Amino acid sequence: MELPPKFVERVLRDLGTAEGRALCGALDAPPPVSVRLNPAKTGTDRLPELFPEVLPGGPGGAGTPQDASGASVFSGSAAFSGTETPPGLPQLDVAGRVPWCAGGLYLASRPQFTFDSDFHAGAYYVQEASSQAVGHLLGGAAVRGARVLDLCAAPGGKTTLYASLAGPEGLVVANEIDRRRAAVLADNVRKWGTGNVVVTACEPRAVCDFEAWFDVVAVDAPCSGEGMFRKDPASRAEWSEGGVRVCAARQEEILREAWRALKPGGTLLYSTCTFNRDEDEGVLERLLAAVGSEAAETEERPVDGAWGVVCGRVGAFRTYRFYPHRAVGEGFFAAVVRKAPDAEGRMRTPRAHRAVFAPADRTTAAELARWTLDPGAMRFGTVAGTCYGWFAAQADAVRALSEALPAIYSGVAFGQVFRGVLKPDPALAFHTGLNRGALPVAELDGPTAVRYLRRQDIPPGELAEGMNLIAARGRALGFAKRIGRRVNNLYPNSLRIIKQD
Ligand code: SAM
Repeated sequence: MELPPKFVERVLRDLGTAEGRALCGALDAPPPVSVRLNPAKTGTDRLPELFPEVLPGGPGGAGTPQDASGASVFSGSAAFSGTETPPGLPQLDVAGRVPWCAGGLYLASRPQFTFDSDFHAGAYYVQEASSQAVGHLLGGAAVRGARVLDLCAAPGGKTTLYASLAGPEGLVVANEIDRRRAAVLADNVRKWGTGNVVVTACEPRAVCDFEAWFDVVAVDAPCSGEGMFRKDPASRAEWSEGGVRVCAARQEEILREAWRALKPGGTLLYSTCTFNRDEDEGVLERLLAAVGSEAAETEERPVDGAWGVVCGRVGAFRTYRFYPHRAVGEGFFAAVVRKAPDAEGRMRTPRAHRAVFAPADRTTAAELARWTLDPGAMRFGTVAGTCYGWFAAQADAVRALSEALPAIYSGVAFGQVFRGVLKPDPALAFHTGLNRGALPVAELDGPTAVRYLRRQDIPPGELAEGMNLIAARGRALGFAKRIGRRVNNLYPNSLRIIKQD
C-alpha cells in the first residue's frame, strides 16, 4: 500500500523536498529488528564487553541488515561483527547494540520468536529501537527507586523498561484504558518478573486523581502512528487528517491529567510514534500555555551525533525526534520536562472503595517466605484467595492504588496455600526473586520446551515426583507436577503457543 498522499504532501512541505523524500524512502524499506534484554534474566552488564560500540571495520560487518537500496541500515549506529552472542542467548543473530539503551540489540534476521523459550521466559522483549530511548532520555538513574506512572501502557514495552530501571525500591503503575489490552500488559508484566508493577485498567482521569503522587509520569500517547507506516503497513490505511485532529485533542486531555499526577520536582515524558507537529510540538505548546511557570527544564541528556537523533526545544521541553532515514529505528518523538519544585500541588490519595488485601497468617507467610530469595524485603497478603508478595518499600502505595482503582495485577502472585503448602501460581515461575531451592528444577531441551509451552504432554524424564519448576536454557517457564508416570502440565492455557510450525 502507498503512503497516504496527504501525508507525503505534508512531509515534503514540513521537512523540505530532499529530507521529506528521504523519510518517505525509508518508510518503504524493511524495518530493523530489535530486542531489549531483561537485565535480571540475562546479565546485560556484560553487553558492552561483548559488543563494543563500533567494532573494527565499522558498520556493514557480517550480518548487517540492509535497506531496499542495499545500504547498511546500521550506518551511524553501533555495529557488530556477528561472532559473539548475548549472555546465554545463542539463538539471537545479533547485528549490533542499540546505542541509547543498555540492553538493546539489533538482530540481523527476525527469528520465530513464538518458538523461542527465552521469549516466553521474559529474557527479552521484542521492542523497536527508538522506543528503547525513553530510559536514557529520563536519565536512567533518576528512575531507580522512583514511583513511575506509565499512563498509556499496553502492551508493556516501556513498562518493562521502567520496571527494570525502578528496581525493588521503586514502583511502576502501568495503566491501560482498554481492558483487553490491559490483560496483555499484565501477561507481559508477569513474564518480565520484576514484581514492582501495578497494572490498572482505567481512564487517565481516575489514576491521575492520585495527585502529586509520582516522580515520573510517562505518556506514550495514542497517536496517528505515522512512525509505524513501515513496521505496520496496515496503519497507512487507517491514517487520515481528521484522525490526526482527534488524536491531538485526546493527547492534550491526557497530558493535562498527567500533569496533576506529577509531584513538584518530578519529570514528565511525553512520546508518540508520529511525525505530526500537531500531535507533537503542538500538544506541548498547549500544555505549556496551561501550566505556565510550573514547567521547568530538565538536565540535558547526552545525545551522540552519530545516533542521528534530532534534538530540539519547545519552551521548557527538550524534544528528541527519531526519523527512520536518520536513526536506526522507527519514527518516534519524545519530550521531557520537569514540574518546578515550587509548583502548586499537594499529594492527594483518593478514598478507598473497597478493602482488597487481607494479611497472610503466620503459617501462610512462613510458607511464602520459603519461595523467595529475600523474604525480608517483601510483605505478603491475599487477594480473593490468592497469595501475593509486594516489595515492602511500596506495599502501602500498592494497597492505596488497589483499593481505589481497578487493579488487575500487582506485585507477584505466589499462588494458593492449602494446609500450609503452596500451589504456585504460574507468575511465580517468572519472578526474578524466586528461590529455586524451594522445589526441584527440570531442565527441558528445546523441542520439549515447545511442547510444554503448547501445553502438550511432556515425558516424565527429568521430573522429580511432585511439583517441579520447568526451565529451558536455565530460564524458568512455569510449573508441572509429576504423579508417577503422569505429568500435569500447569502452563496457563491463556499463554500457550497455538501457532503451528
Ligand atoms: N506504551 C506502550 C508500549 O510501549 O508498549 C504503547 C502505548 S500505545 C502507543 C497507546 C495506548 O494508549 C494504547 O494501548 C491505547 O489503548 C491507549 N489509549 C487509547 N485511548 C486512550 C485514552 N483516551 N486515554 C489513555 N490511553 C488511551
